[in-house]
Amino acid sequence: MPGNTLYIVVPCYNEEAVLPETAHRLGEKLRALMNAGKISPQSRAMFVNDGSKDKTWAIIEGLHQSDSLFCGVDLSRNRGHQNALLAGLMTARDRADMVVSMDADLQDDVDAVDAMVDKYLEGVDIVYGVRSSRKTDTFFKRTTAEAFYRMMDALGAETVFNHADYRLMSRRALDGLAQFTEVNLFLRGIVPMIGYRTDVVEYQRGERFAGESKYPLKKMIAFALEGVTSLSVKPLRMITGLGFLVFFVSLVMIIYNVVRWATGNTVTGWASIACSVWLIGGLILLALGVIGEYLGKLYMESKDRPRFLIREVLDGGDGGSD
Ligand code: UDP
Ligand code: MG
Repeated sequence: MPGNTLYIVVPCYNEEAVLPETAHRLGEKLRALMNAGKISPQSRAMFVNDGSKDKTWAIIEGLHQSDSLFCGVDLSRNRGHQNALLAGLMTARDRADMVVSMDADLQDDVDAVDAMVDKYLEGVDIVYGVRSSRKTDTFFKRTTAEAFYRMMDALGAETVFNHADYRLMSRRALDGLAQFTEVNLFLRGIVPMIGYRTDVVEYQRGERFAGESKYPLKKMIAFALEGVTSLSVKPLRMITGLGFLVFFVSLVMIIYNVVRWATGNTVTGWASIACSVWLIGGLILLALGVIGEYLGKLYMESKDRPRFLIREVLDGGDGGSD
């Protein structure tokens, strides 16, 4: 029988408004699963404080003091959702047999954890939580999010459709993840690369319980670009295609002009020249931008900087050593 200690890892950035309720629900869920004998009594909910500016860490400390079921990881500063999640996963990896990651705002249905744990006990290594509908999202969030998945797909970044970062991973899968040492980490694209037995669990995505989204449109676009450039070189290939196309157009233009010249039909048209100069200039800048994007990635990777630094881990009792 595989070990059955479950850690639920929750990245938190300025989540004081939702944290007490989230902790309450997670606590209930963990106790219910323990009583059902599905998970061990060493199981925990682990909150990762991603350099919050509000009382998030104080709340986590309070939770930990009042109940050893709750533990915490305090990062040295704000490192963004993906890195915070990674810090939690890597800390939980040594203590747990399976780790579920979920958002702090209770948008991920806590009850889906049961089905995830069941699948783990059947021998599945990665269970993806997949949204069955987006009814509760605003029209704007829904359309932008779906455009996000389509664009990712078109640009060659394979992800699981409508799956965010709500998933269960076994310790073996986490050990695999630990070997992906890239700095530009896009978990949703990397996790499917790990392999092993995978499965999905459907759930209804709820509304943010309180507080506001930490992913405004600007961050979402940055996240999409991050995803595409860290998973695929298709945009670079598209530039090559574009280059061929422009070259072909210019050939046609040259032939056309030669014919016009031969038939004595030369006209003084600066408009067409001005337009093409701007068009070509724009395309060149765009192409350079895409190349720069990848070059920037390469630059960051070559520095090999740490992806997160942990200031403190609160996990007393039977779990870990620190
Ligand atoms: N988050 C984080 N660091 C950040 C931004 C967000 O740890 O810099 C966490 C946040 O606390 C939440 C999760 O990432 O638990 C998802 O954020 P949010 O719910 O705001 O995103 P949305 O659901 O609107 O896409
Ligand atoms: Mg949310």
